Amino acid sequence: MAGLYVHIPFCKKRCRYCDFFSTTLLERRKEYIAALLKEIKLRREEAGEPIQTVYLGGGTPSTLETADIQRILEAVGCKDATEVTMELNPGDATPAYLQAIKAVGINRLSIGIQSFQDELLQLIGRRHDAEQAIKAVQMAQEAGFDNISIDLMYALPTQTMAQWKADIETALQLKIQHISSYGLIYEEGTALTRSVEQGELKAVDEEMENAMYDYLCERLKQAGFVHYEVSNFALPSREAQHNSRYWDGTPYIGVGAGSHSYLPPVRSWNPSDLDAYINGITSGTLQRESETLTEEELFDEQVMLGLRTNRGVSAELLQGRAQRHIESGLLRLTKDSRIVATQQGIHILNRIIEDLML
Ligand code: SF4
Repeated sequence: MAGLYVHIPFCKKRCRYCDFFSTTLLERRKEYIAALLKEIKLRREEAGEPIQTVYLGGGTPSTLETADIQRILEAVGCKDATEVTMELNPGDATPAYLQAIKAVGINRLSIGIQSFQDELLQLIGRRHDAEQAIKAVQMAQEAGFDNISIDLMYALPTQTMAQWKADIETALQLKIQHISSYGLIYEEGTALTRSVEQGELKAVDEEMENAMYDYLCERLKQAGFVHYEVSNFALPSREAQHNSRYWDGTPYIGVGAGSHSYLPPVRSWNPSDLDAYINGITSGTLQRESETLTEEELFDEQVMLGLRTNRGVSAELLQGRAQRHIESGLLRLTKDSRIVATQQGIHILNRIIEDLML
């Protein structure tokens, strides 16, 4: 069963840390949706198997009207899908909107909260405040959503451990089913990176970042969450089905500008450019770039993605290559012959993966 990702590259405002492909030209939504519907119809059979999970990501999918979301889901034909997720900006949440998107088939929300501290939300340029974030979750629950994920960020400039601990407690009080949590990355060319380069802000040090991450893992484990991927935590059986495809190498199709598809061993992607995408789809001349992964690249991919998860990779695949890291406590061998990263290993996972790649 395949997954389908739909990219909605519109944001009402750009956040100061973000380098994702998105635009604030909301007036172009209609022509974009028309192109998107065309692409979905052309490509939805490509996986050769029914679509089981759908993910509307961005950008900000909640900048769309419900009627457009309905059109997209109808074009996908996802009546057999078990998981239909949509990313939601807390600033767009109203009871009416949440009830409407639920009625057209969204059954899981990923809410981009990032922090429950107003000063930190302002610092990173989010357009919602803490009260809106809490209300968005409560409104979603009142609208009947029982599968809610929230995003939380740590290692933000000026963020203290006390603030981080308070954020995690607030998240737990909200009784959500899933948390994705990422340490801030200073991407080249973003406003936040410039502020740090110019000395206006100071990045938190690595020791603090690791301490925040360790606290997150420990506290969520204590609260009954399964740490199933480096940055993802879920109550039992509430793991993100769609995102799990990215980590276990099963096929997915991505539609929309800048989206990626993976039909092993071929990876392909649409242009990250609104005009190129809309004009290409409209005229039937869209140029998608692609690459066919070699045996070595497929191995590397398995190691890179597998070690990020609590399933790890099979010991057979690594054939003794991991022994050195097992002895130093960075990886461990499970009873069912899988190799997984230890908490200590996760801190330097990229270095371990690099070492194991062909
Ligand atoms: S809302 Fe999301 S995609 Fe849009 S600018 Fe902010 S972080 Fe980036």
